[in-house]
Amino acid sequence: RDQITGSGIYGFGKTGGRVPVGIGRRRLRIVVTGGAGFVGSHLVDKLIERGDDVIVIDNFFTGRKDNLVHHLGNPRFELIRHDVVEPILLEVDQIYHLACPASPVHYKYNPVKTIKTNVMGTLNMLGLAKRIGARFLLTSTSEVYGDPLEHPQKETYWGNVNPIGERSCYDEGKRTAETLTMDYHRGAEVEVRIARIFNTYGPRMCLDDGRVVSNFVAQAIRKQPLTVYGDGKQTRSFQYVSDLVNGLVALMEGEHVGPFNLGNPGEFTMLELAQVVKETIDPSATIEFRPNTADDPHKRKPDISKAKSLLNWEPKISLREGLPLMVSDFQKRILNEDEGKGY
Ligand code: NAD
Ligand code: UDP
Ligand code: UDP
Repeated sequence: RDQITGSGIYGFGKTGGRVPVGIGRRRLRIVVTGGAGFVGSHLVDKLIERGDDVIVIDNFFTGRKDNLVHHLGNPRFELIRHDVVEPILLEVDQIYHLACPASPVHYKYNPVKTIKTNVMGTLNMLGLAKRIGARFLLTSTSEVYGDPLEHPQKETYWGNVNPIGERSCYDEGKRTAETLTMDYHRGAEVEVRIARIFNTYGPRMCLDDGRVVSNFVAQAIRKQPLTVYGDGKQTRSFQYVSDLVNGLVALMEGEHVGPFNLGNPGEFTMLELAQVVKETIDPSATIEFRPNTADDPHKRKPDISKAKSLLNWEPKISLREGLPLMVSDFQKRILNEDEGKGY
């Protein structure tokens, strides 16, 4: 492994992401915004493991230090409490921009803040990328397709989004973030990458973030009924977090701007998901129906042929394989909660 230069003369510039990963490549300095969150912390694990330097920027709205505690003390790791809505000066090669609450419960909690995070936060990170010549990756979302009229969704589909609804702060916020990203690319020649992420699950999701997989798994462990919203016939496609992290890194290191759908094409109704959770955790678990939320997309399934052919990426872990991998993490945290230790 080659050595790293001091921070003052670190090799910034357009070479950032072009250096292939592997033995003998230069060690990179990488910012992960939102790195204390669910996806971000798994991405940090991978980047640290392959030998790079990582700076996490997070305001801890939905993220937790516990997700990164195993890196504290590592000289290649730095954690900065900072809100991306405010400007920041750093010197790095790559920026993975994840900062934004992802669960509908969290992003609706303070919708104006969600918009500021998506618009001003993304603007600041793009301004940073422009100043230092870093490569910038935006984690956008399948929500840009809204309640889709095309199924499965290809990247060429422009979406069906309500601009004035309860989900708009997130959907339209991410759409604007994509626009900003492309405008910095076209106008300021910033090297950019756009990922459109579909529903992702795994260890370290917030226990009570309201997302369907974390809700069902926590409910089954706590011996509570699984809450199915609406008639439960709406569909989603669930991706295990390590598949997503591999896709994000392949996108950052590759030569294509995107946007790329990153998701698992396996499509499930919420009732089918409840059934898989029952089989995995507790076959005696019951189901309770609740009213659905406003503007809930009826179906969602990625067409991933673009990522397959241009990034040579596809998910490897099915829902039935992935669910058990998050159960022990949830069990441990729920047990700690019960014992009053909190988490
Ligand atoms: P998460 O809520 O677990 O993580 C988001 C992180 O961003 C948290 O650590 C939070 O504290 C931080 N953050 C929020 N606002 C911030 C701000 N203003 N300044 C600094 N930090 C801030 O969510 P996640 O599931 O890890 O999602 C990560 C990214 O991936 C998000 O941008 C999300 O929109 C996108 N995404 C996730 C999914 C999914 O299913 N998990 C699907 C589509 C898109
Ligand atoms: N920015 C930042 N860090 C930097 C460079 C820029 O946070 O290293 C912010 C800057 O404060 C501004 C945004 O990014 O709010 C956009 O910067 P840009 O230079 O593109 O635009 P301008 O400052 O001219 O509005
Ligand atoms: N949902 C559910 N029970 C829950 C939480 C969510 O049936 O306890 C449904 C929700 O109505 C939606 C789907 O699960 O149709 C996915 O919701 P989630 O919040 O996980 O993600 P998103 O709506 O962003 O895809």
